[in-house]
Amino acid sequence: MRPNSLHAADIAHFVHQQTDLADHHEHGAVLMARGDGVHVFDTEGREYIEAMAGLWCASLGFSEKRLADAAYKQLLALPYYHTFFQKGHEPAVRLAEKLIELAPAGLTHVLFQCSGSEANDAAIKLIWYYNNQRGKPQKKKLIGRIRGYHGNTVATASLSGQPHMQADFDLPLGDRFLHVSNPNYYRFHQPGETELQFSARMAAELEALIEREGAETIAAFFAEPVQGGGGAITPPQGYFQAIQPILKKHDILFVADEVICGFGRTGNMWGCETYGITPDILTCAKQLTAAYQPLSATLISAPIHEALIQGSKKHGSFGHGFTYGGHPVACAVGLETLAIYAERDMVGHVQRVAPAFLNGLAAFRGHPLVGDVRGVGLIAGVELMADKATRTPFDPARKIGILVQQKCHEAGLVVRAIGDRIAFTPPLIITEAEIALMCRRFGQGLDAAW
Ligand code: PLP
Repeated sequence: MRPNSLHAADIAHFVHQQTDLADHHEHGAVLMARGDGVHVFDTEGREYIEAMAGLWCASLGFSEKRLADAAYKQLLALPYYHTFFQKGHEPAVRLAEKLIELAPAGLTHVLFQCSGSEANDAAIKLIWYYNNQRGKPQKKKLIGRIRGYHGNTVATASLSGQPHMQADFDLPLGDRFLHVSNPNYYRFHQPGETELQFSARMAAELEALIEREGAETIAAFFAEPVQGGGGAITPPQGYFQAIQPILKKHDILFVADEVICGFGRTGNMWGCETYGITPDILTCAKQLTAAYQPLSATLISAPIHEALIQGSKKHGSFGHGFTYGGHPVACAVGLETLAIYAERDMVGHVQRVAPAFLNGLAAFRGHPLVGDVRGVGLIAGVELMADKATRTPFDPARKIGILVQQKCHEAGLVVRAIGDRIAFTPPLIITEAEIALMCRRFGQGLDAAW
């Protein structure tokens, strides 16, 4: 590595996020320089198909000029204004209006933040506030799922089921965070157990936890319609249908974390639509602006909003908010993103190309490294397995996922290894020809790792 080079400076001064920092210290990082459609190019000029859309977010690819123009226009008109103290601006109001128009039934109001973590953190605060307003101060515990991911603030990392994001950070904080099993059917089903039976077992486990803790202490259940950071895990058949009535029965709110699934990823506008979920709160981010600006939203139902009004009467103000929550430039880009989705029928496009994507990846079921392939719309997980017949995983010391990821990189494909699962979430604009190239490069990566 050349002294004074960009890569040397990266090692010397920059702390990468969610990275093996010991490995980074030794080998450095791949630094991206530019993008074009579904492709990105690193500082050495190497081209990659970005089959993760960055972090499940760059839905319109890496060169959508209309979004740059929308940001520039807003920067010239009103580069910043806040939404505190009964002030605001048109882009935030119009985007809130648009989101409610698109949202599942029953959601009426929107709070804006900058990240998915903040959207879920706000949801947690609002749930606690809501239960205090309605005279249920004991009802505060939150249920997440093992390998679920809801963010990296103190509260959302506590709620997530990702041990490495809690270890040595002294998380989870307090005793308000509970977890139920991971719904990865392929990996965890018992011999002979159907998907419906597996889902019923998951629901029974949830109900047993609720009864053990006391329903009067449990406020909400958080779930991603498709678990992203857990490994792109689609729910088994009947899973949400089994879970929702239990939550209703025990007066427990359902929070749909649509940070990855929202805006077409699963082949509908929302993962909630794909899986028949009726949420009390919906959080979204990422594809809300196609990742061209940091923006997230927490959509709430009328009863929760009413509790905020009652709280204001009690305290004189709703004591929550961020300087950049609902930033006008981010909201203008969000509005333009939603306009592009509608004009280009992005949901329809996902439905049209999904068979090529899902069948193209499913063809790797025959590869010696691959145990299972599952997905929906334009999100899929490929599970690597040492012995398919007995579902025996690889020895973790072999780091098979990281090896496949690295070999895919060398073949010009960005994918993400999550343990032994390889996740795919390409930009929603991907074409069938690009999907074919993506699959060809994945095959090269798998073969090189074998
Ligand atoms: N929720 C889900 C489902 C996510 O996948 C993520 C990030 O990947 C988050 C929340 C956190 O979002 P952010 O990284 O924008 O804080």
